Amino acid sequence: MRELTWLFDLDNTLHDASHAIFPAINLNMNAYIAQVFSDEGSASDDAAVNAARVAYWQRYGATLLGMVNHHQVRPEDFLREAHRFDDLPTMIRAERGLARLLRRLPGRKILLTNAPRRYSHEVLRHLGLHRHFAKHVPIEAMRVHGRLRPKPSKQMLRKLLAREGIRPRRCVLVEDTVGHLKGARELGMATVLVTQYLASDSSKGAAMGGRATSPFRKRPIYVDVKVKSVGQLFRQMHRLR
Ligand SMILES: [Mg+2]
Repeated sequence: MRELTWLFDLDNTLHDASHAIFPAINLNMNAYIAQVFSDEGSASDDAAVNAARVAYWQRYGATLLGMVNHHQVRPEDFLREAHRFDDLPTMIRAERGLARLLRRLPGRKILLTNAPRRYSHEVLRHLGLHRHFAKHVPIEAMRVHGRLRPKPSKQMLRKLLAREGIRPRRCVLVEDTVGHLKGARELGMATVLVTQYLASDSSKGAAMGGRATSPFRKRPIYVDVKVKSVGQLFRQMHRLR
């Protein structure tokens, strides 16, 4: 049997981004979007800005793409401004034992995150997990024909599989965002849903757009394995075969 390749999401999969990081990102994004709207002479009040941020996230899977497509912002500017933190390490919360889990999990691990390189690298280092990943694919690296194609782009996933020489059936996507798992499954990949950081209250859910954050009591049909935490993955692995 050929070796498995694991594609791990970062935010709300390997750590609790809803605790402090997403609220800070949303404030940063709102400030940036308000500035862009005001420069354009459009309404830039909280309601207009929130509505745009959520709508772009729902439509494109990343607020960034909406701002690039509709407002011609430079991706690097938007990503830099959205990920400014006073003290990132103090904002990170995660379960213990993930390094041990990743060490025990057979196969190659790739970090696949719609977050930018600098931020995701810093979070991974702080969690002490960087050495367990053979490769790090941040949003800047998710380009197809020169255009940004973050998750859930199937073009991007296909390109990644081809470049790495991975057969979809030997590849597992581990994620908290069900929309991303759906696309992966359509390509024939195995899928694991991680639920513990999904917001149970609507205030957190609304923060990242609402779509992906409603808790799933039942397992969607395109999800092979549902776990509360990545720490439970090892025990549930047999269900992926
Ligand atoms: Mg996530």
